[in-house]
Amino acid sequence: MAGVVLRDLAKRFGETRVIEGLDLEIHDGEFMVLVGPSGCGKSTALRMIAGLEEVSGGEILIGGRVVNDVPPKDRDIAMVFQSYALYPHMTVRENLEFGLRIRKTPQAEVDRLVTEAAQVLGIDALLHRKPKELSGGQRQRVALGRAIVRKPSVFLFDEPLSNLDAKLRVQMRAEIKKLQARLGVTTIYVTHDQIEAMTMGNRIAVLNAGKLQQVGAPLELYERPANLFVAAFIGSPP
Ligand code: ADP
Ligand code: MG
Repeated sequence: MAGVVLRDLAKRFGETRVIEGLDLEIHDGEFMVLVGPSGCGKSTALRMIAGLEEVSGGEILIGGRVVNDVPPKDRDIAMVFQSYALYPHMTVRENLEFGLRIRKTPQAEVDRLVTEAAQVLGIDALLHRKPKELSGGQRQRVALGRAIVRKPSVFLFDEPLSNLDAKLRVQMRAEIKKLQARLGVTTIYVTHDQIEAMTMGNRIAVLNAGKLQQVGAPLELYERPANLFVAAFIGSPP
């Protein structure tokens, strides 16, 4: 396992400063929520941690190692996006196996890891099905399965539930929390939804216009907001 440290992290697209001076420490095994309004830089921050976006300034450390120049596949990270595209022509089993195969994992190990992930997520009975034969919730579980099957040290979630209906969203929040607690994997969970942040985060980092506003436990942010933005953002759900 490994914690994640952001040191004075910055991102510019041309003249536009999207992230500035971001300092944040996510402890080993912690569930950290990164919350902020649309366009504030959440996805950009996650993509830099995943190595999908170059860093303009500062450092990213995973497990104490600076990874700025480490390619995505060597960062021991799994990312789940909001459009959890499963490969439609592959079965659930093949979807789960894909990430292992491209890493040339031996077959016996592939079988073991897929069985384990499927059991954890309760999708053992679905392994032979194609994505179109699954419900929304089952698809979401397969998407999570693809993330956990390799046993990464860090999970990055980018608004993974925003395409689900309200009931399923509430259910999946609980499932993701349970899964993370069970696996103990360091997790950064991005959302623009204050309620989701308040119910899921052990700690919450509030971002606005590319700048960190406050980091703290839900109650701390609610009772002692550091500034007007945090007070308004956390205090007034949509
Ligand atoms: P969030 O995920 O919080 O909604 P993003 O990280 O997607 O925000 O975007 C933050 C800002 O960076 C937005 O203003 C967006 O338009 C801008 N941005 C994101 N990606 C690019 C890019 N590749 N080129 C230029 N601007 C970008
Ligand atoms: Mg985003």
